[in-house]
Amino acid sequence: MTLDRDAFYIDGGWAAPVGSDLLQVVSPHSEEVVAIVPEGSVGDIDAAVAAARRAFDQGPWPRMSPAERIAVIEAFSMLYAGRLGEMADLITTEMGSPTSFSNLAQAPAPWMQIEAFLTIAREYPWESTRVGNLGTPVMVRHEPVGVVAAIPPWNVPQFTIMSKVIPALLAGCTVVVKPAPETPLDTYLMAELLQEAGVPAGVVNIVTAGREVGEHLVSHPGIDKVAFTGSTAAGRKIAAICGDQLKRVSLELGGKSAAIVLDDADLAKTIEGLKFTALMNSGQACVAQTRILASRANYATVVDALAEAVGAMVVGDPADPATEIGPMVAQRQQERVEKYIALGQEEGARIVTGGNGMPDGLDRGWYVRPTVFADVDNSMRIAQEEIFGPVLSVIAYDDVDDAVRIANDSDYGLAGTVWTGDQEAGLDVARRVRAGTYGVNTYTMDFAAPFGGFKASGIGREFGAEGLGQYTELKSVYLEG
Ligand code: NAD
Repeated sequence: MTLDRDAFYIDGGWAAPVGSDLLQVVSPHSEEVVAIVPEGSVGDIDAAVAAARRAFDQGPWPRMSPAERIAVIEAFSMLYAGRLGEMADLITTEMGSPTSFSNLAQAPAPWMQIEAFLTIAREYPWESTRVGNLGTPVMVRHEPVGVVAAIPPWNVPQFTIMSKVIPALLAGCTVVVKPAPETPLDTYLMAELLQEAGVPAGVVNIVTAGREVGEHLVSHPGIDKVAFTGSTAAGRKIAAICGDQLKRVSLELGGKSAAIVLDDADLAKTIEGLKFTALMNSGQACVAQTRILASRANYATVVDALAEAVGAMVVGDPADPATEIGPMVAQRQQERVEKYIALGQEEGARIVTGGNGMPDGLDRGWYVRPTVFADVDNSMRIAQEEIFGPVLSVIAYDDVDDAVRIANDSDYGLAGTVWTGDQEAGLDVARRVRAGTYGVNTYTMDFAAPFGGFKASGIGREFGAEGLGQYTELKSVYLEG
């Protein structure tokens, strides 16, 4: 069955593209073209924004009650749950995420988000009345923010689309989604499910396109709010445009998170945990904890254990259930990671496993060898810059205060973990590290709680009631006593 497509999902149906540009979706494993889809132009974005604008200004969606919208999203959730395997396969095909990760997170986590947002929406104070300081009632309403531009990256495409589209829809907004050019295929399945669930025409519109066309969407006068996940560089640009136009904006950006290993940690459990928190999705995760902080006393033990575990990870075909590390999404990302591995050596860090070159047994595909650097100083570029691949740096600390100082010595502040036998000691560290999410002996995102970044990792929060609130405007209505 071909995965080729020739249209965009606009105004509740399949619209022929305005232009004739095409995008090749290339398998990062085989380097072969797996699908051809249209590449969106400025004209397609204009059509999508016009449809979303009409649906918001004149359509039923924003005027439906929260309960009516919840019922439609419940139908969508049921349909989505029935297609998780297919969704996981599409994401593995288009961006090379190991099928184990796709079936654990790429498809099920977006569905869990839908369910979590439904639970929150059922209890949300859409309209409440309080007694004001004049002794008269004031009604406080959460109204939809308007037409939303949702811009996700390629690394966790459905995850970062659902975190925006579902709260936007529950709040009564309409949306234009601009998927990354690497990952259009999952969004075609999503569009079919939205249509089948009865989401009215124009409420969600999807146009895959690159940066320039994406920027046209951001600056479009028909857009009220931009919800973006991606690199900090693009986030700064988008924030500048939104600042100038006074558009609402939320940004989920990059990270360089630290995992602090305290001396009383269970080493085997810690290493198993780090394999996931540092290397999930082949290291292509914003929350990846790629700086491993170990005490000087425990340093050699942690380095050896990590080198052994990472060196033994199965690298290869992402469709193979045994694979733990798949290819990088694109050749440019493979080259980027290799450049950082060479840079680490130039900076004086020591490779204890991995290094440049193709992993054993592979002769094509955009693979890199999972690499662990020891003797890393936190000031090195490999410790400060987001590599976005399976490359870890082990950094020595003197004492817990020093570990916290090093963890915080970063432009970023997205995530982190501490590994310890003493939960109170772990909580003490968790309170002191400046990051939006933190784990004590675990790192599992919970969609009932807010997620986002401190510092250059972003502005605003996704998930939880706080994440839903990003798609509402507050209105106070003063009433007579
Ligand atoms: P990217 O910033 O290059 O692109 C992200 C998306 O934005 C793509 O759809 C791209 O086409 C679009 N885009 C880029 N520049 C734009 C512009 N000026 N105007 C409008 N749209 C624009 O990032 P990427 O390489 O696709 O993704 C990797 C980055 O995403 C990493 O830095 C990673 O940390 C970050 N990320 C963050 C989170 C989070 O929640 N904090 C989650 C996943 C990924």
